[in-house]
Amino acid sequence: MITGASSGIGEAAARLLAGEGAAVVLMARREERLLALAGSITEAGGRATVAVGDVRSSEDVRHAVTTAVETYGSLDGAFNNAGWGSVGPSLHEMDDADYDRMMDVNVRGVWNCLRHQIPVMLQQEAGGSIVNTSSTAGMFATGATAPYVASKHAVAGLTKAAAAEYGGRGIRVNALMVGTTHSELMDEAIKRHPVLEKASVARAIQKRMADPQEIAQAVAWLCSDRSSFITGASVPVDGGCSAV
Ligand code: NDP
Repeated sequence: MITGASSGIGEAAARLLAGEGAAVVLMARREERLLALAGSITEAGGRATVAVGDVRSSEDVRHAVTTAVETYGSLDGAFNNAGWGSVGPSLHEMDDADYDRMMDVNVRGVWNCLRHQIPVMLQQEAGGSIVNTSSTAGMFATGATAPYVASKHAVAGLTKAAAAEYGGRGIRVNALMVGTTHSELMDEAIKRHPVLEKASVARAIQKRMADPQEIAQAVAWLCSDRSSFITGASVPVDGGCSAV
């Protein structure tokens, strides 16, 4: 199950995981995008199903989880990736509505996913692996707005707490601390604020932004048994940004 599958990192992860043989359930709000992606995965010989919905809605998330179980028989991995961020006003000049939206999509969205995915995984002999999308903004103040920084710290916290609670029952939970990556969200923000790219590239050891496929590789690894001894981790995929 992949949330935020209609573009960017989520879409790249869906294509990679499906290409490696996983049956993927694609969740986001833009149905046409999801149908086109599912069509393209299926044409390439993969398996994909669409579950349109908003991660802020517990009911929509429940529907996506049920779709996975009813269509494919289990939920082995989940990539809780849907997110929204903003760049711009200072903390004291922001609308409360922006704070609410970032917390709702980024934190409540992951909360809703964990609450519906974990009961299913607990029933499975093989357990499951959950990967949540945090950000370098989950480790330090990157220049993104304060609610975004707070929300991504919260994702890292939820990840650790869930890993600790369910680690003894076969479920691994990890977070990706994603560095600046080309995607709709980011490319649009950079168009409006070119300084964003300069600032994040300057900080990164590799002096460039990531391609969404590079984040997807880490997702595939963390979802698979190849990462069997890793849980509760905040894994930087950031071109070295957090090392300096
Ligand atoms: P995109 O804008 O390309 O993707 C965001 C995805 O989230 C879309 O598929 C969007 O789909 C989905 N989404 C947004 N709101 C909701 C919602 N309420 N319910 C369901 N789906 C929703 O950007 P990215 O690929 O960059 O973002 C993916 C994740 O990576 C986010 O969590 C972001 O915070 C994080 N990230 C990105 C970085 C970057 O530099 N790009 C850096 C660090 C973290 P739809 O609109 O169809 O609902």
